[in-house]
Amino acid sequence: MDIVEQIITLYHRRGDAMYGGEAVTQTEHALQTAHLAEADGSSATLIAAALLHDIGHLVHDLPENAADMGLDDCHEALGAQWLGAHFGPAVTEPGKLHVAAKRYLCATDPSYYSRLSAVSVQSLELQGGPMSEREARDFESLPFASDAVKLRRWDDEAKIPGWAVPPLEHYRAHLQQCLGSR
Ligand code: FE
Repeated sequence: MDIVEQIITLYHRRGDAMYGGEAVTQTEHALQTAHLAEADGSSATLIAAALLHDIGHLVHDLPENAADMGLDDCHEALGAQWLGAHFGPAVTEPGKLHVAAKRYLCATDPSYYSRLSAVSVQSLELQGGPMSEREARDFESLPFASDAVKLRRWDDEAKIPGWAVPPLEHYRAHLQQCLGSR
């Protein structure tokens, strides 16, 4: 099975799991994030990055409520590693950095923290809390930092129950197009 087929199969098989404690499933969350990226006029690689940013949650066997148990599943690193065999950094890095981007935004955008969902605040603590000023400067210098920040803001909006957005099939072409990017 090629990787695009594997990804689509993975969402069909495991994507009905709830997205942490939010009111949408993993698949709904992925599709809404990708849709927001596409609506913003993003490149195919960034749309793919948005779609796949949480795929790490689907490739491990920890329970959905791991954060309630005080566990950080490190899904951002796991997902990037899993994808890295097939996709280049423009697809894997924004996702790999999306947790760091949350810590960055909490440190640099005063209105950001106040808009985080309760679930995101809970996981923030497990992820190291807001960045220090030094950490924030270091983050900004990373090649895909600005894409990661964009992705993060879509990610935070992509938790709307019942929102009708394009299905997985819509992104098959984007994913195919990104395969050469490695
Ligand atoms: Fe997410």
